[in-house]
Amino acid sequence: MSGPDPETKMQFLFALRSKGVTDQRVLEAMENIDRGPFIKGLFNERAYEDMPLPIACGQTISQPSVVGIMTQALKINPRDKVLEVGTGSGYQAAILSKLARRVYTIDRHPRLVREASEIFKALDLANVTTMIGDGSHGLPDQAPFDRIIVTAAAEDPPGPLLAQLKIGGIMVVPVGQSDAVQTLIRVHRTETGFEYDELRPVRFVPLLEGLGKDGNVR
Ligand code: SAM
Repeated sequence: MSGPDPETKMQFLFALRSKGVTDQRVLEAMENIDRGPFIKGLFNERAYEDMPLPIACGQTISQPSVVGIMTQALKINPRDKVLEVGTGSGYQAAILSKLARRVYTIDRHPRLVREASEIFKALDLANVTTMIGDGSHGLPDQAPFDRIIVTAAAEDPPGPLLAQLKIGGIMVVPVGQSDAVQTLIRVHRTETGFEYDELRPVRFVPLLEGLGKDGNVR
């Protein structure tokens, strides 16, 4: 995997900074993880543009600047255990793996999980665990989590995910109708409850129930 040429890489990082990704650790992680291998076929040549692109199963790899903004909003510490709901291409999980101790990532499409696992293996990202399933229920066996990131839009932050967030933990989730502009929100779990703040408008594919069509349950 050769990665982008130095000028393309510089433009990629410039686009991130100019859209508000300023956290140095996040920028370094995004510099280290090449987006190219996560995009197959014709769209691969657009891997370093700041735009969402189609991936298998009718899904998308998110816009790099949105990945950066969501990642920095999580304020990840190196000891953190992170849950990502919506593995998709695996790009976001790979970046999380550079910042956290352990990353669990779950998607309802077995094919996406399989393909992302292969990339994690090829990149030697040994602290990422992939799971197939409906991530709106979280991962009770691995809970609680220091950080949770949801990369599909929910009408409300899913209750099981709120319950699986540690006290002092942070969750970032796009909230709103799937056919409209949604709002990226950040949830802090405190000793007494949850505090919410609105970060920015976003557009994500919807958080759906059950397994995807390439799984055996719907
Ligand atoms: N984070 C991904 C990346 O880095 O490429 C992009 C995620 S894509 C915008 C949204 C993903 O959420 C899709 O892969 C979709 O299959 C997944 N998804 C939707 N509903 C889900 C659910 N209930 N549980 C798990 N994954 C879900």
